[in-house]
Amino acid sequence: MRPIRPGDRGPAVTEIRTVLTGLDLLPPSTDDEFDGATERAVRAFQQSRGLSIDGRVGAETWRALDAARWRLGARTLYHAVPEPLTGEDVRSLQERLLEMGYDVGHADAIYGIRTSRAVAQFQREVGLKPDGSCGPHTMGALRRLGRKVVGGRPQWLRESDAIRQSGPTLVGRTVVIDPGHGGTDPGVVVPDGPLRWTEADLVHDLASRLEGRLAAAGVRVQLTRGPAPETCLPDADRAQLANSLGADVFISLHTDEHANPEAEGVATYHYGTDNGVTSTTGERLAGLVQREIVARTGLRDCRTHAKAWDLLRLTRMPAVRVEVGYLTSPRDRGQLVDPRFRDRVVEAIVAAVQRMFFPVERDVPTGSIDVSELRAVVAAGAVMD
Ligand SMILES: [Zn+2]
Repeated sequence: MRPIRPGDRGPAVTEIRTVLTGLDLLPPSTDDEFDGATERAVRAFQQSRGLSIDGRVGAETWRALDAARWRLGARTLYHAVPEPLTGEDVRSLQERLLEMGYDVGHADAIYGIRTSRAVAQFQREVGLKPDGSCGPHTMGALRRLGRKVVGGRPQWLRESDAIRQSGPTLVGRTVVIDPGHGGTDPGVVVPDGPLRWTEADLVHDLASRLEGRLAAAGVRVQLTRGPAPETCLPDADRAQLANSLGADVFISLHTDEHANPEAEGVATYHYGTDNGVTSTTGERLAGLVQREIVARTGLRDCRTHAKAWDLLRLTRMPAVRVEVGYLTSPRDRGQLVDPRFRDRVVEAIVAAVQRMFFPVERDVPTGSIDVSELRAVVAAGAVMD
């Protein structure tokens, strides 16, 4: 077929313009002329689809435009054999599932077996029949968990409910603590004088202290590694371990590094994507850990950030990665090698975990929880038993 090009008129041009308008690339109009604005929109479309950019609509661009006319929800999607469904709606669905942490591979706009499996998993988790096809009910569930409603995967939303309903006690909770690196991977190494801490050693020390404090408050604690493991466990395996233990909270401990010794401070990370999809409970946990550490240690506040790292994406409970200061900063490092300072960091994390289990409306001010009292509560409970 001869490409449809600038200057052409007719119903084919109207159709092209309609699709481009639907993609927000062209203002709505009933014009049937392939004008300059249409050409620019075609070029933008071609660029976004990785097609060769010539501003004309040949066979390849036509097929892509044809697929693009499907808006998510306009038809039922399913895994068709041998000719799979393709289209913009499939791509939207895949992007949505990826954002929510489901494994669809690439958003390739093809409804293959992997997409079908991811849909089935989503259906199972929201209590729908897991048939792997995306019809009105599944669309409804996807919409209810809308883009900005956030919360990440549905089990996180349930987790958030479970936290609200189970009351403020820490007794009987399971917390998985993940000291980063280890084995063949020491993490950040700063080889100067008495401050020869590696990140792996330092975060394991922090993890052990945290383990002690949480256990004293009645929490079941599991570490993802010992002080000197033979190999370094990949983050995906660490997440899997936390999932298999049914952890209520996951805390990964790291220190940061930077070529500039002036870089310093504490930052926390929770699951989320650039599109604003985030784990609500993870974000809350990260925010609490961040504020408590800043308030109790005076480390510079490098804020809370959303990341789609394996560790955060694959864990099914509120998960936070804490970068407790820069080992490359003489100031941060000088503090971190002081065990009393590390105790303050640990108390801050315990206070944050405690606040995770307070209902939001009964939350307390940052820095106000006396961590030693938690132990008294546990002791009192033990006497009454
Ligand atoms: Zn690290």
